Amino acid sequence: KQQEVQSEKIYDSQCPYCSMQCKMQLIEQTNVTRKMYKTVGKDNPTSEGRLCIKGMNAHQHALHRDRIKQPLMKIDGEFVAVSWDRALEKIKENFLEIQQTDGHDALSVYGSASITNEEAYLLGKFARVALRTKHIDYNGRLCMGAAATGANQTFGMDRGFTNTIQEIPHTRCIILAGTNIAECQPTIMPYFERAKENGCYIIAIDPRETATTKIADLHLKNKPGTDVALANGLLKVMIEKNLIDQDFIEARTTGFEEVMNYVSSIDLEDTSEITGVPFEQLMQAATVFGQEESGMIFTARGIEQQIDGTAAVRCFLNILLATGKIGKPNSGYGAVTGQGNGQGAREHGQKADQLPGYRSIENPEHRQYIADVWGINEKDLPRKGVSAYEMFEKVNHGEITGMFVMCSNPTVSNPNANFVKNALKQLKFLVVVDLFMSDTAKYADVILPASSYLEDEGTMTNVEGRVTLREASFPLPGQVKHDWQILCEIASALGKNKFFNYQSAEEIFEELRIASRGGIADYYGITYERLRKEQGILWPCPTLNEPGTDRLFTDHFAHEDGKAKMALFPNHSEEPKPKPDRDYPLFLTTGRVMSHYLTGEQTRKSPSLAARNVEAFMEVHPQTANDYGLKEDVLVKIESKYGHIIVRSKLSETIRKDTVFVPFHWTDSQNVNRLVANQLDPYCRMPGFKVSAVRINPI
Ligand code: SF4
Repeated sequence: KQQEVQSEKIYDSQCPYCSMQCKMQLIEQTNVTRKMYKTVGKDNPTSEGRLCIKGMNAHQHALHRDRIKQPLMKIDGEFVAVSWDRALEKIKENFLEIQQTDGHDALSVYGSASITNEEAYLLGKFARVALRTKHIDYNGRLCMGAAATGANQTFGMDRGFTNTIQEIPHTRCIILAGTNIAECQPTIMPYFERAKENGCYIIAIDPRETATTKIADLHLKNKPGTDVALANGLLKVMIEKNLIDQDFIEARTTGFEEVMNYVSSIDLEDTSEITGVPFEQLMQAATVFGQEESGMIFTARGIEQQIDGTAAVRCFLNILLATGKIGKPNSGYGAVTGQGNGQGAREHGQKADQLPGYRSIENPEHRQYIADVWGINEKDLPRKGVSAYEMFEKVNHGEITGMFVMCSNPTVSNPNANFVKNALKQLKFLVVVDLFMSDTAKYADVILPASSYLEDEGTMTNVEGRVTLREASFPLPGQVKHDWQILCEIASALGKNKFFNYQSAEEIFEELRIASRGGIADYYGITYERLRKEQGILWPCPTLNEPGTDRLFTDHFAHEDGKAKMALFPNHSEEPKPKPDRDYPLFLTTGRVMSHYLTGEQTRKSPSLAARNVEAFMEVHPQTANDYGLKEDVLVKIESKYGHIIVRSKLSETIRKDTVFVPFHWTDSQNVNRLVANQLDPYCRMPGFKVSAVRINPI
């Protein structure tokens, strides 16, 4: 009788995790003794009502008892709960003191791709107007930087997918380059499975066999770090077999001749040697992709999180352009973004080099437009700052002495993670906004409680570039405020109230619409009302009467001359990558598991998810394990030049013999990012997470 449900409430929301942004509902049932919760999927055009294991259990972290529910201040080394007034006063005193003694640029802001568009927009404005610092960047720099830069350079703009997700089942050939969608964005998988049922040929590129490579007709199991050479080799075959679209190349692109001259000089036996992909497989992949009438290429962190990640993306885009498979039905490109708002959060100004609407912070007209929208003098708008990891180098040099971290965990997610941790310790003042006592929050002077996906309304732009409205009306727990309110209150404490006088997320969005108007990521035609009715709109959407843009580049690209730019990147990059040698004889590559998200701070709070993967592990081929005297499920020390970690071994024939794999969701002695070098891609400043050289030893 006690179990009988006496009342039920339903709260709409969207999943806080990956870029699919599945619509969901939290169902709260009350009986005599307690409240019970479950999450179910809600129908919509993208996820079609599906949820993966992470989404189904998302409420477990949002409702967790360890949520930070009031401001905390470090006093004599201990965190003490304080009032909002006291926390804000402390922040004001310290920020003003740093500005006076060390200068405005001594303050810095570290943002996130998990926050809403409104919050990402406001954070950029907060840094430049309230703090007047040039140093703002975000964790997307470590995630989508190469795809964004590659697309911007090639097409003149960067939107996740050039086509809608609904076109995937109708394409004839798909290349999945370094993407493990089955574990990272599981609810997108049915689109690829439908494509396969319709006869599509799927080619996967990955050093490991994964749940995703299992659906492939052909798996190119290349050596880590050889994606540029692989793409160049594939293009060579297509050119030699005359599988390119000469009319498209002439009418719609520039740069082909230079690319062709280079790839024509490549010896494919060399390519096979460099990449470790058998010659016949190279021929097969290139021939099928070139011959089919339509095709799509999807890239993700596997090829992007490298110091030549931009080059790798651009080489795969060369293939699309040379074969004319873009701007047409069922043909195009997709950068499979990882984080929930990986797309929107990179469009509205929390990047070091960017202003809202994908405007450039160095462009005088763009600066003037945004200065006018914000009501400030253009001369007061700071210039370009440095990228995420480079901010910590500036801390180390004493140039940055204060930091504001919003919903991010940089001590765990950055390369050379020990260095970043030590840099945080050197700060004079650190403020962290978070749901939980993360590894980064532990070093804070003040922690402010963040709002969760259940409580925080706002727009999120999904993997396709579809702007969606996350309805969220669950009551804020304790003294928690909305994240946008936190920014407004700090700005107000610093005397900037008139620039941050908003009463709702929708009011911020109304300003974002105007700020983005005429920019590349133009949201002007999108309103909350439309989003409610239309269930999402693909940008650009410049007027209220337009439906949004389902397919990009149908007759021109976004560069001034309307053409896409093909570019030559040789097989051997100028900057040498880590590569196995006598001291560190194995490749290390990193990635995700289905039950965890980013640094695991949220998913480890969910008992159902934590139980699936309790700790990190090292995947190793049985023959390699034997060479090093390793057995299954024993502790192993993995060392690189930058540090060491200790994890358990997991023997698997699905990985290359010269490579080990460790997922990156854990902290401390299991944080694989401690082993990653601090080299950065010269174009996008992406660290080389996917290729390290290590040695392994049983303990
Ligand atoms: Fe959907 Fe991604 Fe959430 Fe899974 S993690 S429910 S695929 S949004």
